[in-house]
Formats: sequence, structure tokens, C-alpha cells
Amino acid sequence: MKRWTIVLTLIAITLGANADTLELTDGTVLRDCFIRDEGVRLLVWENMQQVGGPAREYPRSAVKSFKVERDDSWDARPNLPDLTVTFIELNPKLAGLHGRVHYDQWGRPKIAGAPILPDLGEESYLKPEQLVRQLKLKYQPGEPVTLTAHVKNVGFATAEPFEYVWLIDGKEVSRGRHRGRLGEMQEATFTLRWNWQEGFHHVTFRVVTSQREIATINNEVTDPLWGWGFFYIVNNKRLQVWHTFRSAYGTFCFEDYYRWHIHIMNLLFEHAIFPASPEGIKARVRLDRIIVTDDVDKAVQSLVAQDGIAYHQGGWIWRDSPEEKAGKWEPPTKEWRQNTEWSLPHELGHQLGLTDWYALDYAGHEHHKMPDNGDLVAHFMTHPVTMMHWHGPQVWSEADAGYLNMTWDKPRGHFGDHYFAIPAENFLRIVDVNGKPVAGAKVEIYQRGCVVDPSGQPGEEAGVKYYPVVEDGNFDYPVSKDPVIVGETDADGMLRLPNRPVKEVRTLNGFHRRPNPFGNINVVGGRGLMLAKVTKYDRPCYYWLEITDFITAWFRGQKDRFVMTLKTPYRSVDSPLPPRNVKVERIDEHHVKVTWEKPQTIRETQYLDRAIGYRLYRRVSSDGLNDRPWFPVATVGPDTFEWVVDLRQRPEDIYWFSQVNRFAVSTLGELSVESELVETLLPQKP
Ligand SMILES: [Zn+2]
Repeated sequence: MKRWTIVLTLIAITLGANADTLELTDGTVLRDCFIRDEGVRLLVWENMQQVGGPAREYPRSAVKSFKVERDDSWDARPNLPDLTVTFIELNPKLAGLHGRVHYDQWGRPKIAGAPILPDLGEESYLKPEQLVRQLKLKYQPGEPVTLTAHVKNVGFATAEPFEYVWLIDGKEVSRGRHRGRLGEMQEATFTLRWNWQEGFHHVTFRVVTSQREIATINNEVTDPLWGWGFFYIVNNKRLQVWHTFRSAYGTFCFEDYYRWHIHIMNLLFEHAIFPASPEGIKARVRLDRIIVTDDVDKAVQSLVAQDGIAYHQGGWIWRDSPEEKAGKWEPPTKEWRQNTEWSLPHELGHQLGLTDWYALDYAGHEHHKMPDNGDLVAHFMTHPVTMMHWHGPQVWSEADAGYLNMTWDKPRGHFGDHYFAIPAENFLRIVDVNGKPVAGAKVEIYQRGCVVDPSGQPGEEAGVKYYPVVEDGNFDYPVSKDPVIVGETDADGMLRLPNRPVKEVRTLNGFHRRPNPFGNINVVGGRGLMLAKVTKYDRPCYYWLEITDFITAWFRGQKDRFVMTLKTPYRSVDSPLPPRNVKVERIDEHHVKVTWEKPQTIRETQYLDRAIGYRLYRRVSSDGLNDRPWFPVATVGPDTFEWVVDLRQRPEDIYWFSQVNRFAVSTLGELSVESELVETLLPQKP
């Protein structure tokens, strides 16, 4: 029986067993390869012989599609050793603040809850530096530190003795030889004493050997020494299970697969290049410790030291399920173990203080409906394809990049305090269809996560009123029924958003919640969304003010002044008259016909009124007008009064909450000055 299995496995391997398929945008198709997804790139082994060695790199933009599907030969265990560097530990460790940041009813974070942390009462909220004076938060230049590399044989045959090298910034600093032979799953450790240096330094530990192994990519680990040190806690039995199959990383090893995910995080940090982070994110993470235990709960407790402080910057705990606690261990599904576990970089992002941006998505509420069809005015995050909104093969957002770059040398434990990074002065600039200012527009702003206090006294700043809200510690209220801010635009279409009073707070990361348009914003994002209703010509338009726009502006350097432009479909003073009788009717499943009539003539031969053509627009969803704006469909001459639209031709945006279609037509005057958009709603299919 056993013999047969071996023979069948061999046949499978020699026939080029069923494996992954990669299709490139240039039409090239690679079959029976092995793909590792690192987000910005795919690493590809072209055949089984290459697995575990150097892989070919394909930037994601060159990839059209790929499919991971491997038969059982992938999990066949070679009778070879496999030396891996599981992690490099750094001691002494720096203090972290995980579990030591608490929040009050105004959403103010405060560092407290350990014997070593003094309580300064109200002062604690403004002088966090004084609370942590007794904590070790950084290394002194020249301070001796100890690096311990853990080497393990995760193959299935005994490993021969090997040489090893330590390098700092790629230069050898120490070398030695391990004379013993490591049996299957046996470990050895190696230490290096090093005097700390300021700056961005890397340490490398490399196993040097010519013996045949299952993989060589795990013979060396390079860690950023300034990186935040994570821990992993895992049951010894889970490690044994992961030793029974080959993971996406190419080896039979839990530690390899999950250390690779730390590497992916750093790769995606590097690639988070935005106006606010032209060189990407300089912060890094490193795997400081893997705590292998028979009792996960006990190991978790051991994370907090006598002084009440946890000496790590976050980590991940593989909790045992009730079945596993009862001794029943199953390997993860093939689907799971042969792919990247994209949820992990996202979750570890939380450990660094990053928030769920999907907390800013909002289905809307009865309080605010679209005037034409009664849809709730919804909001879907403006840039949703980012790690902290939707985990997956994508980089972190610009606001995340700003946050990590500002705090790369600070202890972790604060959460979402970048929500406090609001510019000192903020303006709405309301413009018409031609980009010109809309003067005298009424602006009413509602806020999610709060209720206006009926007994509160309104305040006023620069002619704009604001209304106090109930501060009962609840940030989960729907968008307020009553406005929190009311004002009118000036001759330049500008409205200065008042800085509503707050309970001030500073965090150790350097963020300061001062009076700002969002008021007492909390760190989860409940109040980070405001609905601006702009009204002129009896025509209300809805916009969402998403806090990320304000934060991103702050990180881009606009700390003093930020202007948010909201484009309305209103006319300019010199616009031609609008088309009349704009209608849409369905032709078939995929086509609609939009028709209109020419404007009235009220001033014979007057050139401002001369229609040189018409422009047709479309808008999908009932999101805010700035979230999913009007997009042009066609521009036609003055004698055309209908247009057939293929509904399938539309921007591939995300229309999450509704797929409703609206069409609009404007008259095009001389100089392409447009009239207001005359809207019509496409009735839903019966
Ligand atoms: Zn999350």
C-alpha cells in the first residue's frame, strides 16, 4: 500500500502535476507553476524543482489573472533537512502601551492602569509624556543589546553541521559554526552582542551550508532594527500540524509562513507611496518572538510584566478552538494554506493603531433621503481598496502612511489617534457646474454618531452657527436629524467650518484633539462622517464630509488651512438656459433613451443664451454627490435631442449601497459654459 503511494506520487511529479496558472496582461500563460501573492507582486516558481529557491517576480500590474490549484504532490514530504531562521529576538525589550490606553465618555484616550504609570488626573490627558517617564521607550546610542537568532530544522531528515554569519547593514560582524546535527523540528540559538546605533539599521542572520535542503529562501532573515517588535503565540500542536503539509511559502513550517506575512507588511509599507509619503512608509515591523506553548491562555498572561507593562508592540495569538482543546487538530484547508492570509496584515495593522476605514461606510438613515426616490443618502469610503478598508493584496492608505511615518519610533498601544489630525482652519468651497463660486447657498451639516442637545446653547464662528451635541459616551448614533452646523456661503462660495469646542487631549504619538469641525471625534470613526446639505434654487444637494480627507490634507502639510471643494449642478450667472422636458425611458435590458427639448427663447439673438450643444450626464447610486459624482456620457450638437445609453458602459467604481441610475442634460453655451444639470431618474426595472 505504502509502496503504491510512493509510486503514484512519483508519477504525478514526473508528469508535471496539476498546479497554478498565471495569465499575464501581454497574453503569456504560465501553467503548472507555483505562485506566491505578495500584493504588489507575485513570486512565481516555474516548476517543482524551483520551489523553495529564488522565484521570478511579476509586478501585479503585469498580471491579468491567476489561479492557485495544487494536487497532493505539493504536500509530498521530501526526505531532506530544511534549516530555517524562525526569528531574531532583540533584548532588552522596549515598553509598549497595549492594554494601557483607556477612553472616557468624550472619547479621550488616557495612559493608565499599571503600577509604574502615575495618575495625574486631568493633566494625564494633556501631558502623556509625564506618564511614561519611567518606561524604557528607546535605546541609547552605544547601549549593548543582544540579538538571538533561532534556527530550526523543519525538514524530514537530520541536518548536518553548518556555518552562520551575522551582518549589520549587509556587512559581516560575526561568524561561527554549529557543530551539532539538528534532528527534525530541533532548534538551536545563536547570539550577537551589538552596541545600539541610531537610525535605520538592518540585522541579518544567515545559515551558510551546501547540504541539500527543502528550501533555501528560509536560510536567512533580515530584520529592520527600528521595526516594532511583534510576538506570536501558538500551540506546539499547531506547529506539528503545519509540519505535515507545504504552505504557500514553500516549506513545511508554521513559522516560515507567518514570518513571511511580516515581510509582506514591510513590502506594502515600502510601496505605500502617496503625496503625504513620497518615500512610502518608513515604519517597519519585525517578528521578535514566537512563543510556542502547550497552554496559550497562560502564555498570553505572561505577556504583562510585574510593573503592569507589556514589553512588545503588538502581536497575534492563535487561540485553540474547543475541538483543538479536546485534542482534535486538523490542518487548515488547502485554499487557506496555499494562499496568502490577507486578514493577518490587516489585523496586525490594528496592533499598530490603524483603524478600520470601513467604519466610515454608511448605509444612511431615514433622517436624510434623496428627494426624487426616497433612497437613504449613503456613503461608501472614497478610496476603499486599501488594506485597512478591505484586507487584500493592496497597500495601506495615505492617512495610514502619514500616521505610521509620524509615529515610527513611538510605542504602540494608542489606537486611531490620527482622527485628531485635523487642520486648524477648514473651509467648504461651493462651486457651480462651471466651477464658479456659488454665493448665498445655505449649508446645513449633520453628523453621524451624535444627537443635537435640545437644551444646548448654539455657538457662532465667522457667521456660522454650531449646535452642541449630547455627550453621553455613545458614538454610534445615526446621522443626526438636526444640523450641528448651519451657515451660508459668502460671495466667493466659501464657508468656514466652525471649530466646535472639545475636551482637549494629546497623545504620546503627538496628536492633539483641539477644537475642530468634527467636535469630540472618537478613535473608531463614529463621528468622522458629516452630511452637508447644500441648498440654492430650492434644489438640495447632499455631500459627505469624510474625515480621511481632512486627515490626509493634514499629513500632506496643510496643517493650517484646508479647503474642500463641493461641486454642485447649479447654473452660473452667465449660463445658457437649461434644456426642457428631460426624460429617460428604457429600451431593453441594457439600453435607455434620454430625450430633451431645447430651452425656451426669452431673449432673441442674445449670445449668452445661444445653445451650441448639449451634454448628457449619468450618475450611479444614491451616495453623496462628491462620493459618486455625475460623469459625462456624451456631448452633442444643438440639433440633437436624444441619446441612447448603453448601461454597461460606466466607470468601474464601487456602487455598494445602490445601483440606481440618474441622467441629466445641460445646455452648452458659447465657451462651453453650461446650464444647470436637469435631472431625471431611471425607474427601477419592474
Ligand atoms: Zn479590522
